[in-house]
Amino acid sequence: QTQTPQITWVPYTLKSEDELRFEIDKEAKIKLADGTAEYFGTELALNREYTLNNVKGAIFSWKGCKIEVTDNVKAYISNGTPMLSYANIHSIMDQHRMSILSQKNQQGPRVLIAGPTDVGKSTLAKILMGYSARLGYNPAFIDLDPGQGSITLPGALCASLIDRPVDIEEGLSNTVPFVQYYGHTSLDINPTLFKAQIQSLGISVDKRMEQSDNARVSGMIVNTCGWIEGLGYELLRESINLLRINIIVVIDNEKLYSDLSREFSSGGGNNSSSGMKVMKLPKSGGVYLRSALFRKQTRMQRIREYFYGIQGDLCPHITIVDFKDVCIFRTGGGPPAPSTALPIGSTSVIDPLALQEIQPSPEMLHSVLAISYAKNSQSLLRSNVAGFLYVSDINMETKKISFLAPCPGDLPSKFLLMGTLKWLE
Ligand code: ADP
Repeated sequence: QTQTPQITWVPYTLKSEDELRFEIDKEAKIKLADGTAEYFGTELALNREYTLNNVKGAIFSWKGCKIEVTDNVKAYISNGTPMLSYANIHSIMDQHRMSILSQKNQQGPRVLIAGPTDVGKSTLAKILMGYSARLGYNPAFIDLDPGQGSITLPGALCASLIDRPVDIEEGLSNTVPFVQYYGHTSLDINPTLFKAQIQSLGISVDKRMEQSDNARVSGMIVNTCGWIEGLGYELLRESINLLRINIIVVIDNEKLYSDLSREFSSGGGNNSSSGMKVMKLPKSGGVYLRSALFRKQTRMQRIREYFYGIQGDLCPHITIVDFKDVCIFRTGGGPPAPSTALPIGSTSVIDPLALQEIQPSPEMLHSVLAISYAKNSQSLLRSNVAGFLYVSDINMETKKISFLAPCPGDLPSKFLLMGTLKWLE
């Protein structure tokens, strides 16, 4: 007879506005034993055991509570959090919503969160989503950081319609997203494509807002990547313009705050004549600094979770197809054509939006490809993505390619997109 292992719980008492910061390596459990508390904007249910794996985070309580964690959780209590100023952003969004409720042609709060890496941008986005959803709003969440892939996979730019707070155990994986496959984890590989795809995401979200009054009033919450210098700043400005942002929140960077204030709000303060608000927020002392290695590991973990499930509960399928049954395109313009292939006198210019069909080759092994919903190759780069495949084998002799897919069945389309993202287990 097998015995269930004994769980040893360690109790913590949080006073009003305290938070319990924790680090979990291996699977661990957390439980709210008394009072009320939230995990980045999502309320914990009383006495429910939440199972978490490989995360750093914090449980915050506005009014005080008792938390229990399993003895493999490293945790400490802090009472110095920026939660009041974060909640203030939510109040500003809410006031904006109330003020436009009956004005059909007005847009809700369109918030963009900017700042360097590891300052808590994604965390603030989750908190704002949670607070909005708890009031019954359906904001769009747009994730412009292809480095981590909070909604689907790294390499993707996504928009999701949020109708409930982010799930504590599953994250955002249960929301229905609009997905564009950029194919790279860094913005400098194809900034022109990056801009074109933000525009397409914006159009998809705007269409949704035209159909639903609640979505229009709820607005959007945009997370960005931490590249804020040079081209990174340029792309931030483009994102602000393309998505018609009306509230910019800068976390922990005076220079970025000052540059964006100068550029976007004529008064430079919170109430400019242009209607744009630019606000600055402090970073929480709890935000965990991630090394490049840790980032890469979480990226790989995201891809693994996509195919095998967050709890390892999915059973991915291998699909084998003939080379002739798929059309694979590269999302990077590809190398310039050799000059011998061009008309005399012309020079080779890479069009970053020009698609280049590529033939299956051993180089594709381990690549992550997106399956496009496009009907033809012209609309490929801006079409929504149906899902992702992993190239597990290429056989040049039999001319067959093996894909790992999260579910069985035929591919929904023969158009596949490939970037530079690879999954090395
Ligand atoms: P950014 O999006 O700016 O790169 P994140 O919001 O992803 O930063 O935060 C970095 C890491 O710190 C994440 O693992 C997040 O869960 C963790 N974190 C954020 N806030 C806290 C906090 N108050 N206490 C503990 N960990 C936190």
